[in-house]
Amino acid sequence: MDLSAYIRDIEDFPKPGVVFKDITPLLKDPKALKAATELLLHYTANMRVDKVVGVDSRGFIFAPLLAQKMGAGFIPVRKPGKLPFNTLSESYELEYGQEILEIHSDAIEKGDKVLVHDDVLATGGTAKAVCKLVERLGGEVVQCNFLIHLTFLQGAEKLNGYPIKSLLRY
Ligand code: IMP
Repeated sequence: MDLSAYIRDIEDFPKPGVVFKDITPLLKDPKALKAATELLLHYTANMRVDKVVGVDSRGFIFAPLLAQKMGAGFIPVRKPGKLPFNTLSESYELEYGQEILEIHSDAIEKGDKVLVHDDVLATGGTAKAVCKLVERLGGEVVQCNFLIHLTFLQGAEKLNGYPIKSLLRY
């Protein structure tokens, strides 16, 4: 199944000059949704995964699906001020300004094997910050996987040393 047929380019979203990869056509189609989930699961077949960390907000769509199928727990990493319990935070640079992500301080046990999931890998700043949060809590990132990897933005270089998998590359 050609999943790229279910990804829509939206020009000038969320701001002028950006071409946004919209995954909602893939989510809407039952066969594409099933195929994408099964392909992502295949990337961690035979690997021990204790926790699947999903990134606010589109990482929350597949991460719990994967966690449930793998017999792992789901951990949300969120934008600041959204998590109710004690948090650790990590900031990273964007093209203009700074972004902050937070995780609950009790989300990961020392030695947990962790899969990090998000919809899109662009510059890699987001995923790198998530990996740092996991490691600060004593977890080991066993893979970062994505629906879409925008290879021209060099995110793989920023995630140097972490195994990366993606369904679609542009
Ligand atoms: P990065 O930190 O530059 O790698 O950006 C990745 C984050 O931005 C992810 O959380 C994505 O959800 C979001 N993102 C960046 N570009 C796109 C896109 O084209 N479509 C959907 N999300 C995107």
